[in-house]
Amino acid sequence: ESMQADATTTAVCGYCSTGCGLRLHLRDDEAVGLTPETTYPVNLGMACPKGWEALRVLDSEDRATEPLIRTSDGKFALVSWDHALRLFTTRMKGIQRQHGPDSVAFLSTGQIACEEMAFLGALAKFGMGIKHGDGNTRQCMATAATAYKESFGFDSPPFTYDDFEQSDCMVFIGANPCIGHPIMWERVLRNQNNPEIIVIDPRRTESAMSATQHLQIRPKSDLALLYAITNHLIACECVDRKFIDQHTEGFEKLCEHVSGFTPDAVAPMTGISADAIRQTAETIGRRKAVSLWWTMGVNQSYEGTRTAQAIINIALITGNIGRPGTGANSITGQCNAMGSRLWSNTTNLFGHHDFKDSADREKVACSLGIDPECIPTEPSWSYDGIMDGIRRGDIRGLWVIATNPAHSWIHQSEARNLLDRLDFLVVQDMYHNTETARHADLILPAAGWGEKSGTIINSERRYGVLKKVRRAPGKALADFYIFRALASYWGVEEMFSEWSDPESVFRIMQRASEDQPCDITGIEGYEQIDRCGGIQWPWTEADAEGDFQPEQQRRLFADGRFYHDDGRARLVVDDVTPMPEAPDAEYPTLLMTGRGTVSQWHTQTRTSKSPVLRKLYPNEAYIEINPKDAAAMEIANGDQIRAQSRRGSLLATAMVTPTVKPGHAFMPMHYEATNQLTLGHFDPHSRQPSYKDCAVRIERA
Ligand code: SF4
Repeated sequence: ESMQADATTTAVCGYCSTGCGLRLHLRDDEAVGLTPETTYPVNLGMACPKGWEALRVLDSEDRATEPLIRTSDGKFALVSWDHALRLFTTRMKGIQRQHGPDSVAFLSTGQIACEEMAFLGALAKFGMGIKHGDGNTRQCMATAATAYKESFGFDSPPFTYDDFEQSDCMVFIGANPCIGHPIMWERVLRNQNNPEIIVIDPRRTESAMSATQHLQIRPKSDLALLYAITNHLIACECVDRKFIDQHTEGFEKLCEHVSGFTPDAVAPMTGISADAIRQTAETIGRRKAVSLWWTMGVNQSYEGTRTAQAIINIALITGNIGRPGTGANSITGQCNAMGSRLWSNTTNLFGHHDFKDSADREKVACSLGIDPECIPTEPSWSYDGIMDGIRRGDIRGLWVIATNPAHSWIHQSEARNLLDRLDFLVVQDMYHNTETARHADLILPAAGWGEKSGTIINSERRYGVLKKVRRAPGKALADFYIFRALASYWGVEEMFSEWSDPESVFRIMQRASEDQPCDITGIEGYEQIDRCGGIQWPWTEADAEGDFQPEQQRRLFADGRFYHDDGRARLVVDDVTPMPEAPDAEYPTLLMTGRGTVSQWHTQTRTSKSPVLRKLYPNEAYIEINPKDAAAMEIANGDQIRAQSRRGSLLATAMVTPTVKPGHAFMPMHYEATNQLTLGHFDPHSRQPSYKDCAVRIERA
């Protein structure tokens, strides 16, 4: 039978935060193939291998197709949805009755649609009386969100992807867009301004190799380096006094704070010469349109928030914000991390309001048509707080949605022990055999990308539309409809009577967004988002009536007004702190973890299901070590090695390469065992785990 398409439609990709538009080729309303969308303003006809393979991973035999419960012999048995939802309700309510409402928590994700996050957050917190829930966005964006909120007054990445093409100097800090965000990197390569491209990274990454300048700093010396750059910008009067005076707060304190961070003083800490530091500062100072970009190298750090703010400070004091080609720009990780930040109802109340503010609670209650008394007056515990709660026995029931903590959470063996301590663990996922699902008491089979509709928000604040172009396998249901069914089994159906389908929830979100910086009251609906190639927030009713078109690129702060009440951005500084587990005689190597390839995603839950993507990446775990270290340890490229930390050990293949300096090693996060080694420590402000620094010992196996 011919598989020739008879129609096409578009949808955004559901892996990374780039948010590429994909054209789905349909036959009888089912997608039979896809190509990158040529007219979508994000990707302009390009896609990375994960996007190209997005349909393939839906067909895997590992899909969860029916609800499963763990039986007394420890095996899983198929049950009906009715049985599964009754069990969920009886067990979770039973735990709450016995140990209090806060004894049940949820862990969600940046991988589902905004409307699903909104439903989950509202159902759990307002319907089920669950106070504590967090998302895997804690592992990726919490730091950037915290930094923006303190500095700008709202979690507001200011940029648009056009800035990659408009800059004449781009600084990438702890970011490897060449493989992490390859389509954004393509935009960098299109830049016609002969830009200076400076990469600050302890590894010689693919992006560093393509840069005009690579500052290969000692791991976790980024905060000191950024203060030294700031010091020199001030010393050589490369700052924008007018902008500082009119639009910022805290410049005197900043000057005083960085006065000790001279390039000469900081050179030995960072391993970068004072001349190179001065040259970098002067390049930033001289260029007209400087943009600074960061991702996980900064966010996943024990002093990440202050490091992100040191980047923001540089943009502010040089007036590099609000104009084309500028900005202090956090590139998000997951496809809908931004959606989680606005709509998950975890750290912030629905629509980025404040749980502690009674006026905000009233407003949200009114938008949702619920009693304000249903809304908790405190935000949730963060992810690590929930894990601590399990350890203490305060949390006994956990509901995990589209995330895989048994693989991805820092200090893995402890995370797995904690999951086993729970009285009841529910895992809601597309696949029945994730590392976390192996610990579950109940598995709820979920539809995946391509099998459901809704919206997601990319790194440049652009809402894009997901479409249902495939039937989910077996009895798997869209997360949205699982939440809807649970609302009914829990007995709170009435509270959600308006939440009948994703677009109805989008309208509720619009109401709740009114007068927030992320106001989207002017959007007509999914059809308009689709037609315009996505719409960036804010898009207010006033915008809809004005001259600016939704298709136009929009960057924030063009008028120099920030979201604090006085309109001024804050310049935030802090002490540089020592690495919690520095290498020593027993564990002499510093291990960094991170993204290893363009073809795999996170814990490989989906991407490992594509033979093409598997071929593009070694299936066996490997660790990068420097040739000098390898020679000293008599390790050859390809040898089996053992890496051991104070928490665990693993076997891997040695990749002997100068990408890491002597004394350092790098292991991709995609392998199951990687987090056996990592140390459970966190940024104190964002509570984001610090994945990039732990001490290990490496030897031949
Ligand atoms: Fe684009 Fe990211 Fe999807 Fe790749 S994974 S196609 S870069 S959105």
